[in-house]
Amino acid sequence: MPPGLDRLDHETIVGWLREADPAVLERLWARADAVRAAHVGDAVHLRGLIEISNHCIRHCLYCGIRACSDGVTRYRMTAAEILECAREAKRLGYGTVVMQSGEDPGLTREFIADRVRAIKAETGLAITLSLGERSDEDLKAWKGAGADRFLLRFETSDPGLYHRIHPSLPGTLSDRVAQLQRMRAMGYEIGSGVMVGIPGQTWEILARDIELFRDLDIDMIGIGPFLPSPRTPLGGEAAERLRASADEQVPNNEEATLKVVALTRLVCPEANLPSTTALATIDPATGRELGLVRGANIVMPNVTPPAYRVLYEIYPGKACIHETAEACQGCLERRIRSIGRTVGSGPGGRRRSGPAAVTSSLLPTSARGRGDPRPGRH
Ligand code: SAM
Repeated sequence: MPPGLDRLDHETIVGWLREADPAVLERLWARADAVRAAHVGDAVHLRGLIEISNHCIRHCLYCGIRACSDGVTRYRMTAAEILECAREAKRLGYGTVVMQSGEDPGLTREFIADRVRAIKAETGLAITLSLGERSDEDLKAWKGAGADRFLLRFETSDPGLYHRIHPSLPGTLSDRVAQLQRMRAMGYEIGSGVMVGIPGQTWEILARDIELFRDLDIDMIGIGPFLPSPRTPLGGEAAERLRASADEQVPNNEEATLKVVALTRLVCPEANLPSTTALATIDPATGRELGLVRGANIVMPNVTPPAYRVLYEIYPGKACIHETAEACQGCLERRIRSIGRTVGSGPGGRRRSGPAAVTSSLLPTSARGRGDPRPGRH
């Protein structure tokens, strides 16, 4: 019997993730699009992405800019370059800038706080940070300087898989869920997300990822396919060793990614969901549009100068890598209009019609406490 849509419990989510019949999947696509229209509307909000540094101290097995990647030319943008990108985002009519980087201690607390203050003072744009795992002192200083949101994907809710692909730094235990909860308490809008098709990721794990988005009441949820980089262990033999059995391993393809986008829209109806660059990379012709008609409502055009953009190579063949910011804007706006949607204006923050955020004490035990080895914990 095909899975239902009215009660999305764990078994039903797994059923949908495993569903392969295109006619049955049409029901999922249609419901996700209707829920998107009802809860976040037809406007697609554009966030200007600035990739401010590709330095990184971590050794994530999936990421092309990991600390020990050979052949990466490292860069860190100057204060003036970052401000110029924010001005460009403002000129192009975007309501938000996202400053993203590898995990780079060279981006000091003061440097980022000063950039946030300068961008706010001159442009008034909403500011999202995506700078990896940072201390509470850093996070509070940036919030105090005017940062609005922070993106930190938990990558997978499965603690075993997480620690295999995302090794902790010596003497620490990486716990992204705990950082998300602390950032929420500091007043940030919190963003998270996962890669679809990581070697070792099963349908059961992926269903729990979607449930964790709901339990944490995540405001922004980025979902993209895992794209192997030949510079990384997961672009080579380690991937084979980690893979689950053929029936259980999630493929890193477009359909699996779109199922996760659609199901996430159903369980988190008011969240902001980007149609990701990774999705556009595996399907340059229609990936962006398919994401937008199957639950997504955000796009993040790149405003990084092209000379740096090519060096921020987390996976090969990244979409839109050579275009100027204006060309990206024109192309994305055409794509948005081609599916009958409009380009949003203003900051496009999280909408809330229901009660305020779930607090940590209301979360299931699987999503509480530091370093807890149970599912949902890192
Ligand atoms: N350093 C910050 C962090 O870790 O949150 C932000 C930058 S990190 C490169 C941004 C995201 O890129 C990661 O959260 C991960 O999901 C995604 N990513 C990295 N390598 C990838 C790959 N090979 N395929 C798809 N997505 C990838």
